[in-house]
Amino acid sequence: MRVHIIGAGLAGLAAAVHLAKSGTKVRLYEAAPRAGGRCRSYHDAQLGCTIDNGNHLLMSGNQSAMAYLDAIGARDRLAGPASADYPFLDVATGARWNLRPSRGRIPWWILDAERRVPGTTPASYLSALRLLQAQAHEIVADVIAPGTPLYRNFWEPLTVAALNTVPEHAAAALMRPVLLETFLKGADACKPLIARTNLADALVDPALALLDAAGAEIRFGCRIRAFTFAADRIETLESDDGPVPVEADDIVILAAPAWVAETLIPGLTVPPPGEAIVNVHYRLPALATRPGDIKIVGIVGGLAQWVFLHGELASVTISAAGAIAEESAESIATRCWNDVALTLDEPAMPEPAARVIKEKRATFAQTPQALTLRPGTATRLANLLLAGDWTATGLPATIEGAVRSGERAADAVKRMTARRTKAA
Ligand SMILES: Cc1cc2nc3c(=O)[nH]c(=O)nc-3n(C[C@H](O)[C@H](O)[C@H](O)COP(=O)(O)OP(=O)(O)OC[C@H]3O[C@@H](n4cnc5c(N)ncnc54)[C@H](O)[C@@H]3O)c2cc1C
Repeated sequence: MRVHIIGAGLAGLAAAVHLAKSGTKVRLYEAAPRAGGRCRSYHDAQLGCTIDNGNHLLMSGNQSAMAYLDAIGARDRLAGPASADYPFLDVATGARWNLRPSRGRIPWWILDAERRVPGTTPASYLSALRLLQAQAHEIVADVIAPGTPLYRNFWEPLTVAALNTVPEHAAAALMRPVLLETFLKGADACKPLIARTNLADALVDPALALLDAAGAEIRFGCRIRAFTFAADRIETLESDDGPVPVEADDIVILAAPAWVAETLIPGLTVPPPGEAIVNVHYRLPALATRPGDIKIVGIVGGLAQWVFLHGELASVTISAAGAIAEESAESIATRCWNDVALTLDEPAMPEPAARVIKEKRATFAQTPQALTLRPGTATRLANLLLAGDWTATGLPATIEGAVRSGERAADAVKRMTARRTKAA
C-alpha cells in the first residue's frame, strides 16, 4: 500500500511526515521545483540574501505546528522574544505601547494599564466573550462594534492578521479558535515566533530530510494534471511524467490549493479566493537588531501592519491587501518605508533597496459564506482524502490550519488501513 500525496506545501508535508514516521510508503508529487508552497524562501539577487515569500508569524500555542516542528526536529529553528510581548506603534500619533498577556488562563494583564491597549478599560476586553459565542453567519464587525480604541488597535489588526480579511467581511466564528488556542491560554501560548533564518530552513528542509531518510519518494516539477476514475475510486494520476496507476489498496491525499482541487475533482465545492498579502523586504545598511535577535512590531495608522526586524532585514506585512497589490512595487516600497523608518526611530533614514512580493492568492476569503464551502477530509471517492488550509479544519487559513489538515488526513489513512486489516 502506498499513499500518493499531491502538493508539498505544509499540509502535504505534514501528512507525509506523519505517515512516513509510522512506516507507511509515501510518494509526494510537487508541481514546483521546490517544496513549501505558499510558505517558501528563495535567494534574492538584488538584495543579496535569502528572503521568504512572506513573513510568517506562528504562536507558541499553535499545537499542530509545534508538534510538526518537534516531529521534524526543528522547534529550535523558530525564534522570537523570550516572553509574549507585542510592541505596537501608532504611526499617525507616534504613540507606542506594549501588549503583554500574563501567564495562566486568568487574564490579569487587562487590569494593568501598562500592559493593555492605551485608552481601554478592563471591561472593554469582555468583547472577547462575544467573539467566543459568535454564530456561523456573523462577521467580526457585527459582534464587536467598531469605533473604540480596542477595536482599532487590537481587534482590527488581529482579525486582519489572522484571517487576511477585514473585520467587515471576516467570519467571527474563525476568531474563536485563535482566542481559545492562544490568547486565552495565557502568555505561554501566545509568544510570537518566526523562522530564525528563513521558512525553508525552519519548516521545509528538515521535513524533506526526514522524508528522504524514511525512504519517501519526492517528485519535484511533477504536476498532477487530471485523475481518471473507476466507479468510486481514482484509478490513475495523469502527471507531467506520464500516467501513474493508483493500485487497489493505495490512497491519494490531495493537498493542492483549493483552486487546483476544484479542477481535479468534478463537483467539489471550495471556498473562493480571498485577498492578496503584500510583503516588502528592505535590506538595511546596518543591523537593526543584535545578531540572532528578532523584533516584531504591530503598526496602526499607516500602510504597514507588521514590521519584522531581523538582522539587516526589515520586512513589512500588509494583509487584506487587495487594492494595495494593484499599485506598483516602487510606490508600495516608498509608502511603507515611512512606517519602517518610524519603527526604527530613524525618520530621516533614506529608503534602502527593497523587494516587494505580492501573493495574490494568499488565502481563501475567510467570510461566513466561504466557511460553508470548506470540504472535510473524506470525499465521496473511496481512496481520496483532502488536505490544505482551505479544508474544514475549523481554523483560519494559516500554517496551523494547513498542518492540522495534513495530520487529519494522515490519521484518516491510518483508520482506513486499520479497518482493512480488521476486515481481511
Ligand atoms: C504572503 C503570505 C503570508 C502568510 N502569513 C502567514 C502567517 O504569518 N502565519 C500563518 O500561519 N500563515 C500565513 N500564511 C498562510 C500559510 O502560508 C498557508 O496557510 C499555508 O502555507 C498553506 O499550506 P498548504 O499546504 O495548505 O497550501 P500550499 O502552500 O498552497 O501548498 C500546495 C502545494 O501544492 C502544489 N501544487 C499545486 N497544484 C499542484 C498539482 N496539480 N500537482 C502537484 N502539486 C501541486 C503547490 O505548488 C504547493 O506547493 C501566509 C501566506 C502568504 C501567501
